[in-house]
Amino acid sequence: DERASVLVIGGGAAGITVAAELRRHRPDLPVTIIEPSDTHSYQPGWTLVGAGVFTLSETVRPMETLLPGGVTWIKEAVSTLLPDENLVELTDGRRVRYRHLVICPGLKLDWDRVAGLREALGSNGVCSNYSAETAEYTWQCLQEFVGGKALFTQPAMPIKCAGAPQKIMYLAADHWRKRGLEQPADVEFCLAGDTLFGVPFFVPPLQQAVDDYGITLRYKHNLKAVHGASRTAFFTVADEEGRMSEVERRFDLMHVTPPQIAPDFVRSSPLANAAGWIEVDPSTLQHTGYANVFSLGDVAGTTNAKTAAAVRLQAPVVVRNLLSTIDGKPLDATYDGYGSCPLTTAYGKVVLAEFTYGGKVTPTFPLDPRKPRRSAWFLKTKILPFMYWKMMLRGSEFDVAHREREFAQDYQT
Ligand code: FAD
Repeated sequence: DERASVLVIGGGAAGITVAAELRRHRPDLPVTIIEPSDTHSYQPGWTLVGAGVFTLSETVRPMETLLPGGVTWIKEAVSTLLPDENLVELTDGRRVRYRHLVICPGLKLDWDRVAGLREALGSNGVCSNYSAETAEYTWQCLQEFVGGKALFTQPAMPIKCAGAPQKIMYLAADHWRKRGLEQPADVEFCLAGDTLFGVPFFVPPLQQAVDDYGITLRYKHNLKAVHGASRTAFFTVADEEGRMSEVERRFDLMHVTPPQIAPDFVRSSPLANAAGWIEVDPSTLQHTGYANVFSLGDVAGTTNAKTAAAVRLQAPVVVRNLLSTIDGKPLDATYDGYGSCPLTTAYGKVVLAEFTYGGKVTPTFPLDPRKPRRSAWFLKTKILPFMYWKMMLRGSEFDVAHREREFAQDYQT
């Protein structure tokens, strides 16, 4: 057995931020991170890698350069959670005992739920911004496209960054419009759901982009299988009465967003809710059954948008409440469900969607957030990456949630 006072599972956006903030607030508190990967990725940058704005290397850094000083790193993956014994088991069979646990291993991209997808990815125009291995191929596909059918898919919710499947679609359409194509482009957005975006307030500007680019929307289309060599996609489609049928579509390019679920060791644990995510109080982020367990980030069973922006505001809440638990004090920090999605509607234009639980619109800036803006593109491409690497991951807290709430009332629909 190894022992940890605070054990953090996952060295992603959430794990590193929480560990850094814990070290800053309580430098003598022993913190251990379990993380199997050598590298850490700034995933919000992958949309821009797929669009040729960032290089992949700008989004990936060695894990050891980001882990906060003084934190113990166990380079292994967790395989089992045993909360009744305050233990986690690792894939190499080791067991780690903890006093307090923070669970943030992100989510699992379920590529295998789409038959043939793993084999098809990376050739024949089948690309995805959802992994470091495939994001560069998206840009290659965008450049090689000479016209014809371009499909963009979106699986059932929840997924991380719900706007990402359509961000790359608008950037692709803009790129092709600017470059000029030999043949006309026929762009289709195939969504498993029946709405363009989960927060209705932001649908009109997105619908505007869809109309401007002449994109066809295909709701209730769920990608089930891909055959790369014949460039064919198979969808199950639900009609008005909920009857299912299968349709086949040929494509010249297809950008796939894979189905997303909680990691296996989380889904099979006593800490998961019915849908497989970690069951926490949506406000304190403390587990509802185990007071010494907290969770945040993509794996948390909360209804906020699964984004790094959410992590930025969740981390200080987890840290404060965790320290209160250690000190035997009542939990006084609350998370309001803030998440943000910078929707790239064109090169140089972003609709900055920011909202809290229940889809309440909470813009940081006193400007109509429905308008695509050049300033928001600057934020997305320059300021947010800087904030992520230099401030968030280093644990500098800048809880701007209260400021965001100030403008909230103006924009209720
Ligand atoms: P992650 O950052 O994914 O980290 C999870 C970590 O846990 C990883 O390092 C992983 O190796 C580790 N891990 C996994 N399994 C185990 C295990 N068994 N044991 C131990 N460790 C494990 N967010 C925004 O805010 N704005 C955006 O514009 C945006 N755009 C996006 C675009 C794309 C294409 C993608 C893919 C994501 C985007 N996001 C965006 C979402 C954002 O990247 C995630 O919400 C964020 O990274 C979540 O942080 P996390 O720490 O929960 O998970």
